[in-house]
Amino acid sequence: MQSLDHRENGNEAIKRGDYISAWEHYTEGLKLTPKDPYLWCNRAFACLKAGYPELALHDSANSENILTEYPEQDFKDNIDLFKLKLKGKYRIGEAYGVLGLPKHAAFEYKACMDLAKKEDPSMKSYTKNDFNIWEKKKEDYYKTSLLHDQFIQTCQITEAKKRHGFYKFEGRYPWDKRNEERTSEKTIEKLQQKLDSASNFLLRISKIRFNDSDSEQLGLVVKTTINKSRLTLQEDPFLTAHNYYVFRCDYCFQELNEPGSTPYESLNLYEKPKKVDPYYCPKRSCEEVFCSERCYNLSLNLYHKSLCGKDKEIKEIVDIINSDNIGVLHHLMLTVRIFAVAKIRDICPLDVEEIKHLCRFTPVSTPFRGKMIYDPSFYEIYLNILRIIEVSRFDLRYDYWIFITVINMVLPNSFPGPGDSDVIDTLALYPLSSLVNHCCIPSFFDAQYLSQDYDSSPGPIRDNIRMRCKIDDVDNLFHPARIFFVPSREIEEGEQVLKSYCDPRQRIIERHSGLVTTFGFICKCERCIYENGGANQEPVNWHFHFPVIPDWVKKYDN
Ligand SMILES: [Zn+2]
Ligand SMILES: [Zn+2]
Ligand SMILES: [Zn+2]
Repeated sequence: MQSLDHRENGNEAIKRGDYISAWEHYTEGLKLTPKDPYLWCNRAFACLKAGYPELALHDSANSENILTEYPEQDFKDNIDLFKLKLKGKYRIGEAYGVLGLPKHAAFEYKACMDLAKKEDPSMKSYTKNDFNIWEKKKEDYYKTSLLHDQFIQTCQITEAKKRHGFYKFEGRYPWDKRNEERTSEKTIEKLQQKLDSASNFLLRISKIRFNDSDSEQLGLVVKTTINKSRLTLQEDPFLTAHNYYVFRCDYCFQELNEPGSTPYESLNLYEKPKKVDPYYCPKRSCEEVFCSERCYNLSLNLYHKSLCGKDKEIKEIVDIINSDNIGVLHHLMLTVRIFAVAKIRDICPLDVEEIKHLCRFTPVSTPFRGKMIYDPSFYEIYLNILRIIEVSRFDLRYDYWIFITVINMVLPNSFPGPGDSDVIDTLALYPLSSLVNHCCIPSFFDAQYLSQDYDSSPGPIRDNIRMRCKIDDVDNLFHPARIFFVPSREIEEGEQVLKSYCDPRQRIIERHSGLVTTFGFICKCERCIYENGGANQEPVNWHFHFPVIPDWVKKYDN
């Protein structure tokens, strides 16, 4: 089929109101002609109509980006092309409006008007009516943004918090076919093989259904009775990331001596870890550091090859992470690495074998039950990642929806690595351990190998695990973030392995607000049902971004 046929099929689907099919047709067309500005602009429309404004931004921006390469004369000769330019801008405005960014929206409508007046004074490409609509929308959004500012002032909401809007992420995009494969028999079989060796045949993977959800998730179940304190599961991380707050080995988190500093020696086991001298990436233009040649080689083939020498670009992302005020950006370094792994393997990030089964759990950073926040800087970061790994923004294997989906996999599935507990600067992704589900009366404890070296305030839980695991790293080959799971009591055959995602010593209200903001669910375990209280997330952001609440928001607002 020709690209033009796909476009026509897409347009037909739009007329029927079937926006998801339209999206799929346009995407098929784009696979054949990735630099067709009409297809991108049409797909932006399908995204808006289907309720995915965040994606409309990327599609319109791509259409606009292609048009900048056309000679000016083309727009004079071809009125449709000029119309397309206006449409692209208009759709960016629409997207910002729905995302709760009225100031951005007003700016785009104004750009439409300027473009029309300046480049097409004879009004061939638009009508008086079009122009009036842009003007009205510009005015309305401008007023909204003033109200918005006022509201923020009266509520004394800080500058840092005011750029957020919303979009609804329902766990996956409708065309994300890989989501079903996640829990397929074939996937489970492959994972089980890995689990057999990681758990010494003690565990099996099982499909778990949670109280209030229709979808099945995976979980780990005990195959036989297990005594208290028996080591049940150990696993090295697939991928790690840190935020460069601390001078660390890029691969294993080992803290390094800063150049020119005097090495720090400590006799106290629970004080700061022993630092080692840095091993620099041999490529001169690259500033990345490791603790050893071994770590360098391991990272090189996994992800470093596509990040090597990109320090400046990575620094830009780190700066955004450092200015992070919504808690989501913290996980972006791990997202950068997943994209780097995919680039080296020449595949889509969602096809990375080690993570393709991970749930996409609609976590939130701060605000509202299961709905993630949209921040305009996400898109900037996405484009930055593509530049770093040298992938074209028109390459559909690295499409924007894939980036959003990957963030939604990283957030609920990554474990904090070693580091001071109040400023977590390290994250690790474990393909199997991330299948362990939550309970406020956990049956298992988990600890990482080197956590004792980093944890300056050793709690009884961690100490117990270290003693009971009898860790014996004869070859000195353990990854410092290797994770160990040990039961806290005798476990019967068929029981699920459950750990606490939050501090089990906390009160119900603290546990719930932690769980809902990081993992997007309210716990309904035995203990939570027994204890009174619990959190009810206040949907505060809806109100300050939408003076008039849109219908699709009301659905969530009870
Ligand atoms: Zn290392
Ligand atoms: Zn390098
Ligand atoms: Zn609970």
